[in-house]
Amino acid sequence: MTIESAAQAAYLVAALLFILALAGLSKHETAKAGNTYGMAGMAIALVATIALAIDRGVSSLGLILIGVAMVVGAAIGLWRARVVEMTGMPELIALLHSFVGLAAVLVGWNGYLAVEGGADPAEVAVLTAQGTLGIHHAEVFIGVFIGAVTFTGSIVAFGKLSGRIDSKPLMLPGKNALNVGALVAFFALTVWFVISPQLWLLVVVTIIALLLGWHLVASIGGGDMPVVVSMLNSYSGWAAAASGFLLENDLLIVTGALVGSSGAYLSYIMCRAMNRSFISVIAGGFGIEAGPADDKDYGEHREVNAEQAAELLSNAHSVIITPGYGMAVAQAQYGVAELTRKLRENGTTVRFGIHPVAGRLPGHMNVLLAEAKVPYDIVLEMDEINDDFDDTDVVLVIGANDTVNPAAEDDPTSPIAGMPVLKVWNARNVIIFKRSMASGYAGVQNPLFFRENSAMLFGDAKDRVEDIIRAL
Ligand code: NDP
Repeated sequence: MTIESAAQAAYLVAALLFILALAGLSKHETAKAGNTYGMAGMAIALVATIALAIDRGVSSLGLILIGVAMVVGAAIGLWRARVVEMTGMPELIALLHSFVGLAAVLVGWNGYLAVEGGADPAEVAVLTAQGTLGIHHAEVFIGVFIGAVTFTGSIVAFGKLSGRIDSKPLMLPGKNALNVGALVAFFALTVWFVISPQLWLLVVVTIIALLLGWHLVASIGGGDMPVVVSMLNSYSGWAAAASGFLLENDLLIVTGALVGSSGAYLSYIMCRAMNRSFISVIAGGFGIEAGPADDKDYGEHREVNAEQAAELLSNAHSVIITPGYGMAVAQAQYGVAELTRKLRENGTTVRFGIHPVAGRLPGHMNVLLAEAKVPYDIVLEMDEINDDFDDTDVVLVIGANDTVNPAAEDDPTSPIAGMPVLKVWNARNVIIFKRSMASGYAGVQNPLFFRENSAMLFGDAKDRVEDIIRAL
């Protein structure tokens, strides 16, 4: 068996392992196994690719460069993965997507310089003999475009998620026309480039795509960011697939298509769960206009201390806890688990209501609660629990804000209007754990804090939960 055919067989095995990884990651119980399949697939893919490069006569300098790149990449990857906080995960993922985009741009430019630029006459001769030169032009152009959109889009997403850029949507005048104009220009330039490939066309499309990626994500605000992150995941897959065509690497095409389609499907499911238009989100908030600023006077809020909260809880028959991003920041999940155990020992029914986008990544709250050993059967999805708030004595809103905002239902001008939320205000008492009256991720005021049955318990969520446990 030649190295070439052995490598192709290894690619097939790696592709199957990636499919098993995706299947495994879809369930709690099998997620670890899914990760292992993914790692095994990647290790096989790397070994096969290096063997293939050697077989195709890579120079010793090339081999050294591959080795150096792998050591540097692995060292940075290991270091980041070890130190990243759970709350910093989405921004790390966004940054990694930007690398995929940048790699696709570099692969595309390299393809241009080698073939259209004439640096590799042997490759030009092969493509000409096959009659696929025109296809190569299209692959270069499309790959650079998708890669550049992914690159700047992911950088903006990283900035927004890490708080370096304001999460409010950017509202340029005629923003929809700008996006549509960029797409039309891309199609027209692609046709031009395929007919007559010229350097300046590639430069122009790179600039247009960089600006489009930046604008698409900058135009999306608050509540829609989770969908954008998953959409960028999908774009990074298509960018990798485009590189796969250029590099004639089947595994990269298969893997890119897997990531691209699963990311697109996840975005679609999230849009449905959040009552958002899929097309509107992927087109950079297409059709959404800015609502008026919310400077309404909602009146006074009420405050309680930990002892009063403990008193209320010890008399309650039913309690629902709705955690959010603040629980993750405070690392309050262990205290929350302990409080849950205490209350259940006291005969109180305690359940959790999990919003699909609570926290900063899909499943964020489920992971934290599982880590703190809260039993799965009392952790319910929003749709399973939303009708039960009427019959509930006390709701503890622990570091959640946008996901419990009644304005999403009551105020059609709100930036989060139409997003389904946990109807905590229907309970007899609502206690909100947060440090101040500041708004949540979407930057909108929350009228829940001013309702008659609501009371604020200020301070770090972990400290306040521990105070309540002591008082109980
Ligand atoms: P929010 O981001 O709306 O609110 C979190 C609240 O936690 C803040 O109001 C903050 O108030 C409070 N908080 C922060 N730190 C602490 C602390 N140490 N102790 C106590 N409270 C604290 O959270 P939600 O989970 O309700 O909503 C998630 C938001 O994030 C949505 O807008 C969603 O669209 C968005 N998002 C979700 C993603 C996902 O995939 N799940 C990805 C990207 C964005 P204060 O500062 O006063 O303490």
